[in-house]
Amino acid sequence: MAGSIENWAEGRLVLPGGILDASGNAHQTVWVRQLTGADEERLAERKYRNGAHQVTDFLTHVLVKVDGLEPPVTEEQVAGMIIGDRDYLLLRLRQIALGDKVEQVLRCPAAGCGKKVDVEFLIGELAVRRTERVLPEYEFALAETVWPEDETSWRGAIRFPTGGDHEAVLAAGDNTAAANTALLSRILVRFGSRKALDVEAVRNLPLSARQQIIGFVKRLMPGPDLTVEIQCPHCGSDMTYPFDLHAFFLPNG
Ligand SMILES: [Zn+2]
Repeated sequence: MAGSIENWAEGRLVLPGGILDASGNAHQTVWVRQLTGADEERLAERKYRNGAHQVTDFLTHVLVKVDGLEPPVTEEQVAGMIIGDRDYLLLRLRQIALGDKVEQVLRCPAAGCGKKVDVEFLIGELAVRRTERVLPEYEFALAETVWPEDETSWRGAIRFPTGGDHEAVLAAGDNTAAANTALLSRILVRFGSRKALDVEAVRNLPLSARQQIIGFVKRLMPGPDLTVEIQCPHCGSDMTYPFDLHAFFLPNG
């Protein structure tokens, strides 16, 4: 793939998914500028509605252009980027600005241990799932029909969740089931013979159907795998955790 090679010194990055334009074409090559103190201040700012909104504002300032799209990069475009692409940009920007190595101190969660553990890993070691060409929607099939009156209600289609979806999900609060309901009602573009499902219809889906659809999205979505696998050196307990991208840019994060 000509032109799809990254050049960190020049700020050229290749998204693992891509930005879809109005005609459904995906654009993967983007250009970022060097981070400055103003960006650091933006990341420490508390004025944002939530973390996803903050990432949108940050990336809108840092993205210079997207090959194949008319500049400047707008906030609307960044909010429309899939979550995995946004995470990928945060990871690479951190690597370019502050280096590959991450050092954190975590506490072992095992009862009876609770000791401090120094965690150290390289961002470059985190796996990134890439797709050749991101599509506007993806069809899935469930193991069983959901509604007896609709014989096609075992299949549907989703689109990948975006930064805008992430914002809406965070607005749903700490309840992860409510967050899944909010997410599914946004990303389901078709189910059975219906065009889309509202929040109430998603809430009434069988648990197994919801889990199959969420699992489908997780298996397919391009982007970095933020799982850091470690064991407590004191007691051997599994301390595997998802790396917090939003916090790690901050000096005390
Ligand atoms: Zn331990």
